[in-house]
Amino acid sequence: LKDNKLGRATFFPLTVIKERYVDYESLNTLKSSNDFIGVLSDLVTYNKKYKNIIKKGVFEMSYSIAIDGPAGAGKSTIAKLIAKKKSYIYVDTGAMYRAMALFFIESGISADEQEKISAACKNVDVTISYENGEQIVWLNGRNVNGLIRTEEVGKMASASSANKDVREKLVELQRALAEKENVVMDGRDIGTVVLPKANVKVYLTASSRVRAVRRYEELKAKGEECDLEVIEKDIIERDYRDMHRDISPLKQADDAVLLDSSDMT
Ligand code: C5P
Repeated sequence: LKDNKLGRATFFPLTVIKERYVDYESLNTLKSSNDFIGVLSDLVTYNKKYKNIIKKGVFEMSYSIAIDGPAGAGKSTIAKLIAKKKSYIYVDTGAMYRAMALFFIESGISADEQEKISAACKNVDVTISYENGEQIVWLNGRNVNGLIRTEEVGKMASASSANKDVREKLVELQRALAEKENVVMDGRDIGTVVLPKANVKVYLTASSRVRAVRRYEELKAKGEECDLEVIEKDIIERDYRDMHRDISPLKQADDAVLLDSSDMT
């Protein structure tokens, strides 16, 4: 079972499965945890001896939903709604890249100093926790939720996220979370790299103009001065960087559902 979607039940006695289900390969085609629970219940009846192991396997399975796409397509809004409805954990991976970026800015490192970024990232400890369902990002033990949503941090995150060492560190953290919990995870490489076996994959996008207008209205509502053309230009630049970097570029996974939210409210 190691490489299938339900691979967390690796300790499951394969010989038993093989005897009972000659068509063992078909386990790879199971679509949901309910299918798997069905198979396991049969096995419980088949051999009571394995009952405890089987139950443990069921409880330890986790379900993952991957939502990827460019900035401003509505990923976090949708991910939060799903997480609330399903009582899953919402993992905002962009916030992790932003926390790292904040550390680089505070350390006086600029976006083009890739060697310094690699070296500095060894001293960064990014963790997340949850309070009333809201994700809190901790940077070296400091809650930085209130500091990572600026344009400056967004730009640095976009540049430093192209760095291999930064990505390795954060991908490890993201995978560890998805192993323990049922997650809705959003980002740029979730369906392609972080959780290639996610149970559901969505690629959510919208035109750059629509995304710029959404951002413009958000800033206006906060009373901030802004220019629609400048915002759209920044969005196009950020998309380009995210889609053309060497490591884990933003792209739709082959098995992801494409959703264009341009004409949706
Ligand atoms: O989603 P958000 O705008 O907060 O992400 C900030 C930046 O972090 C993105 O522009 C992208 O460069 C990077 N990122 C990434 N991979 C992810 C999530 C975010 O490279 N999974």
